[in-house]
Amino acid sequence: MSLDGIYDPDNIFAKILAGDIPCAKVYEDDQVLSFMDVFPQTRGHTLVIPKASSRNLLDTDPALLANVIQKTQIIASAVRKAFEPDGIVITQFNGTAAGQTVFHLHFHILPRFTGSNVAPHASGQMADMNELNQQAAKIQAALKQ
Ligand code: 5GP
Repeated sequence: MSLDGIYDPDNIFAKILAGDIPCAKVYEDDQVLSFMDVFPQTRGHTLVIPKASSRNLLDTDPALLANVIQKTQIIASAVRKAFEPDGIVITQFNGTAAGQTVFHLHFHILPRFTGSNVAPHASGQMADMNELNQQAAKIQAALKQ
């Protein structure tokens, strides 16, 4: 069986892409959108998604995937400049059994700070939108450096 079935056009990231629900936007081009995770596991937790509809890494066009990963690298570098973490974890989950909870491909950029805990995945406390917008602005400024 597939990794949980077909693409659901009503998933939460499709709604963000459609502008139906807000996000703290970090970066956008014709193929890629990046925004802050609203249930951040660490300070600066950022997501990078393709605009095209794919559930996961396995059903994504390889050329598009290459672009999404390159943009993930660029945005991770900006996250590094913005928050000066001690490390950065990049994660990506495929299927419920693997921990995926939103079924539109995305990469997590998780800054790690020595001595600071990581909140639970996709079940932590919802962040304040003003705070997330401020974090997004810091990353945007770093992208311009
Ligand atoms: P997954 O579990 O699929 O790898 O990750 C989905 C991520 O999306 C989780 O980290 C979760 O916190 C985040 N998330 C869920 N709903 C929303 C939302 O409405 N807005 C934003 N910005 N992130 C969300």
